[in-house]
Amino acid sequence: MLKFTVLVRRSGALALLCGLLSATNVVGQKPAAKQPDDPEYTAKIKEYLTDPRFSTELVDHLPASKTIPTPLKFLGTMPGQPGELYYAEDIYRYYQELAKDSPRAKFWKFPLKTEEGRDMVVLAIGSEESMKNLDKYKADLAALGDPRKTTEEQAQKIIHTSKPIYWITSGIHSPETGGPQMLVELAYRLLVEESPTIKNIRDNAIIFITPVVEPDGRDKQVDTYYYGKKTKKTKPPLMYWGKYVAHDNNRDGMGQLLHLTQNITAGMLEWHPTILHDLHEAQSYLYVSTGTGPYNPSLDSIAIDEWWMLAETEVMEMAKRGVPGVFTYGYYDGWVPNYLFWIAESHNSFGRFYEVQSYGPDNQPNLQLPATATSREWYRPNPPLPSIKWGPRANTDIQESAILIALNKVATEKTLYLENYWMKSKRSVEKGKDGPTFGWTIPAGQKHRVNTVEMVNDLRHQGVEIEVAPADATYGDVKVAAGDYIIRADQPYRTLVDLYFSLQNYPITNPIPYDAADA
Ligand SMILES: [Zn+2]
Repeated sequence: MLKFTVLVRRSGALALLCGLLSATNVVGQKPAAKQPDDPEYTAKIKEYLTDPRFSTELVDHLPASKTIPTPLKFLGTMPGQPGELYYAEDIYRYYQELAKDSPRAKFWKFPLKTEEGRDMVVLAIGSEESMKNLDKYKADLAALGDPRKTTEEQAQKIIHTSKPIYWITSGIHSPETGGPQMLVELAYRLLVEESPTIKNIRDNAIIFITPVVEPDGRDKQVDTYYYGKKTKKTKPPLMYWGKYVAHDNNRDGMGQLLHLTQNITAGMLEWHPTILHDLHEAQSYLYVSTGTGPYNPSLDSIAIDEWWMLAETEVMEMAKRGVPGVFTYGYYDGWVPNYLFWIAESHNSFGRFYEVQSYGPDNQPNLQLPATATSREWYRPNPPLPSIKWGPRANTDIQESAILIALNKVATEKTLYLENYWMKSKRSVEKGKDGPTFGWTIPAGQKHRVNTVEMVNDLRHQGVEIEVAPADATYGDVKVAAGDYIIRADQPYRTLVDLYFSLQNYPITNPIPYDAADA
């Protein structure tokens, strides 16, 4: 007769039930000599968590540090604490302190401020060696990004010795408040913790964090929240987040009108980050992006596979830990290239996003979901539950755990991700040599000459190389006049040009696209 024991996973309880299984987590092995935790902070993590199923061994504690203040010590409140939110400036002050205290971090501001004059920032995190040699890693990634300047031999050397940059962005959507909160704690954990998982991440990847992409809206959102909390009056909805822009700030990837989009694009061109990961809140409990398809045909097929490989890793590893409601596929398609994370896709990097159950920051004692969100599907094998107690700490735990799993995977398989980046860059150039599209021309003598120049400059600001024809010429059956603009297709960012100029043939057998697919 077959004997079995049903193990009900609760944080820490697995070890009591079965000693053999207590250390089987692939990712989260316990450190050999246990680093002491910050007892007050760790106790509050447990206190604020509304349901232990959302915790994992990766985030159920916070290690202590003698030299670096915890978010709680520095800011007076902590991520996941009900009823509290940080202003963008609070997060920046904390990040500056981290960079001052730790040789594993660097902090800088984007040159371009927001339309209302606020800063956007980056905190870079890695081993001391990575931070010391940041310029070298930057040069490595630039070399992998341009196969016209890099030989296969040089590329292979870089692929096997260099490190990917994993750039996390959040807070573009101001009412989605949890990402910026979580990233405060993640930064501390990545700098301080000595577990094998965190060390692996720190040693083998370089992490960039831009905690608030839309600081104008963030500050309005926090103001509004505290107004409601203090006065007990109804919180007024925000008319705008940034200056005359709301949700569509994440539809500006092609328009490139907002300073936030221009900053992220400039960061992409300067650093060639391997991955750009944008955090949102619109699904239950955690959606990891892949999309349902149809996928935009301008993308290299490697890009699609990358989406799936990494997303399935998070879904599986979170299921191993008994965390319900982590899924992929069933939201968004993968067609329209205008989102912030597509700035990575259009530059041969890997763009992705999360949609997490809302942070609040008030607890939701009885979060109920419709049957459509809780059914078990092939892409959602461990679905959300019909009703639970939810709160900001659950939001923090679930997304911080998942992103640590993703970071650990990319750090462990860094060669794969660097090779993919090289391959995508190389194939972009080759595609322009092989045809059928060898280039594009833009007549200069058009009726709207200023608009033409503006378009050309907008493309140049995104890294596209555009030449001016020195004389009249004929290429195949295309006639070019002196002064016309010529875009060669054998350049690394040819995918970006293709996304702008190719006709979209959206397969009509599919549901309507998530966003417009106008040609
Ligand atoms: Zn969003």
